[in-house]
Amino acid sequence: MIVVGGGPAGFMAAITAAELGVKSVQVLESTSKPLEKVRLSGGGRCNVTNACSDIRDLVTNYPRGSRPLLSPFSRFATKDVFEWFTARGVDLVEESDGRIFPASNTSSTVVECLKSCAKKAGVLIQTKKLVTSLKSLGSDGFLLSCKDSDSFVAKKVLLSTGGHPIGRKLALEIGHSIVKPVPSLFSFTLDTSFFKECSGIALKDIGLKLYIDKKKYHQSGPLLITHWGFSGPAILKLSAFAARDLYSNKYFARLLVNWSGMNLEKLKSLISLFRLEKAKNTLASAALLPQLPKRLWLALLKQVEISGSTRWAEFSNQYEKKLIHILASSSYNVIGRGPFGEEFVTAGGVNLSEINFSTMESLLCPGLYFAGEVLDIDGVTGGFNFQHCWTSGWIVGKAIAN
Ligand SMILES: Cc1cc2nc3c(=O)[nH]c(=O)nc-3n(C[C@H](O)[C@H](O)[C@H](O)COP(=O)(O)OP(=O)(O)OC[C@H]3O[C@@H](n4cnc5c(N)ncnc54)[C@H](O)[C@@H]3O)c2cc1C
Repeated sequence: MIVVGGGPAGFMAAITAAELGVKSVQVLESTSKPLEKVRLSGGGRCNVTNACSDIRDLVTNYPRGSRPLLSPFSRFATKDVFEWFTARGVDLVEESDGRIFPASNTSSTVVECLKSCAKKAGVLIQTKKLVTSLKSLGSDGFLLSCKDSDSFVAKKVLLSTGGHPIGRKLALEIGHSIVKPVPSLFSFTLDTSFFKECSGIALKDIGLKLYIDKKKYHQSGPLLITHWGFSGPAILKLSAFAARDLYSNKYFARLLVNWSGMNLEKLKSLISLFRLEKAKNTLASAALLPQLPKRLWLALLKQVEISGSTRWAEFSNQYEKKLIHILASSSYNVIGRGPFGEEFVTAGGVNLSEINFSTMESLLCPGLYFAGEVLDIDGVTGGFNFQHCWTSGWIVGKAIAN
């Protein structure tokens, strides 16, 4: 068995196959550093998986691939990953939002576990082997050629090349179709410098609506204000579900933000209450929404074009309408992707209709398997991207061993 690509999906497949008795398992990795993305992941902490254990809930975290993943997850899902790592000496801890990290708080624990399990099971890892060509030899298996002119023959081949274009090229050459790759999980750049002074503010639960042409997406959750616009889990989720439409529209869209978490009626009665009970206080000193940090409250007042030194007693109806509108439904123009992807992944890849999901084997080319990001599957943030790598890799290892 030859695994092309030494990432999490490739390692999980290689270890599973070797542990189950497959005699010769080799991983060909183009760089000198296998599992580099695992090392960098989760800000160096590696968000291994998520606590979400209900499979129907779990699949809702995959903008692409949710239905086909139902069957693989019924065999190896989040709990199984938890047990797999725990049994191999990696203690894992769940955070309050369901994300699961190594108790050591460093990704190197996960990297070292995968490397040592591979070594123990007899997997041969070859680095600096960029596979540039893959040819089917019919019943004799496959011929793989590398950039350094080395070549290999294997009965079974797994392509687990992640989002790298060369992996998609190998799949294409062997007859697979590719769903056009586009970026997913990115922050938004806005056309206003308005938020510069609020940069760094993190909010727990903000309602968002994204309009791209006639299409509408909505999401709520934590939001982070940055120098260039907005980021944080709710924005990254929006970017994932809207990835294709945003790409088609050159990343121009309209974003409505509900800063208040209330509807217009509730805001109206809250303002009436403040006029009575906080009449002598200024707008700056008595913020309408205590959950908003003062810096943001003052910036929103600036957007209403009213001075913070105005007293609530003097707050006129003309401003009331404007304030309600801004707190419940501020409109901003998205003009591009943010400069840094927190957990950048590729949406698109090998067409899922050409894969047998009970083995992850190609329906077009027997003996060829796929796992991980090379497929047209991607998840939102929270450990879901690694989860489908562990699952698809494990299924390939099992299938080849069988
Ligand atoms: C900064 C960052 C942080 C992230 N954090 C998280 C997180 O905390 N949790 C989470 O779930 N997801 C996270 N992700 C997403 C996650 O890293 C990917 O979804 C995952 O690594 C995909 O695994 P893979 O095995 O499919 O591919 P990869 O990890 O990309 O591995 C593919 C490997 O194949 C090699 N390769 C490619 N082409 C060839 C070739 N032709 N020949 C030989 N080798 C080849 C590559 O060098 C690479 O080592 C993060 C992503 C980024 C960029």
